[in-house]
Amino acid sequence: MIDTHCHLTDPQFKDDLQEVLERARSAGVRQIINAGYDVETSRTAVQMAEQTDWLMPAVGIHPHEASQHALDAFREIEQLAADTHVVAVGETGLDYYREFASAEQQRVLFRKHIALARKTALPLLIHTRKSIDEAIDILKQEDIHTGVFHCYSGIYEQACVILDLGFYLGFGGVLTFSTKVQEVFKKVPANRILLETDAPYLAPVPYRGKRNEPAYIIETMRVAAQVLGMKTHHLGKTLDDNATALFFS
Ligand SMILES: [Zn+2]
Repeated sequence: MIDTHCHLTDPQFKDDLQEVLERARSAGVRQIINAGYDVETSRTAVQMAEQTDWLMPAVGIHPHEASQHALDAFREIEQLAADTHVVAVGETGLDYYREFASAEQQRVLFRKHIALARKTALPLLIHTRKSIDEAIDILKQEDIHTGVFHCYSGIYEQACVILDLGFYLGFGGVLTFSTKVQEVFKKVPANRILLETDAPYLAPVPYRGKRNEPAYIIETMRVAAQVLGMKTHHLGKTLDDNATALFFS
């Protein structure tokens, strides 16, 4: 299994990261996409990759962190993206739910990530909240077609547009408790879905409300297989192929 979206640099892991990683290994997780969300965590994610062979870094600045300072600091993200370990640009996107940053600053920063993804030929890790349609519009305008809408919770019609554009859909712990997300998940083609934890956030049932960690992807996988009526190991093979196609080829 591959956890395609996780934040191992989050302070919630600072005391027991080694144990978290051991539990992930024991659960059968063989690779983790470790997404930075600002300059510092992106740098740390790259450093972690230099010491291991299975923690694959993504570099970017989360829309929550969008600010003039982030725009100025983006040059450092560009430098980090040149590291050969890096497998994706992000986490980036638009978040109009929290609006920690102005919509305009978020858009400018999102477009900078898109330009970097184009230049490096790396896929984008896209975060959206109350912003799927606008994210789609920007991707169309920018004519970019590789990446994933992580933690997807939009409607089926939007999913179809995203798939047509060439993007994958990432599903996490929410799949284990949201029938609305399950309905969409059931209808999208299996060769275009990815599973993720988004740890330390959004833990699946039965850990809902607690700190999430990569080992818990097993719970999401179990529900995913149930919803699709597939055997877990068949689905696991498909999901590994999908993640490999997007990030490692
Ligand atoms: Zn995330």
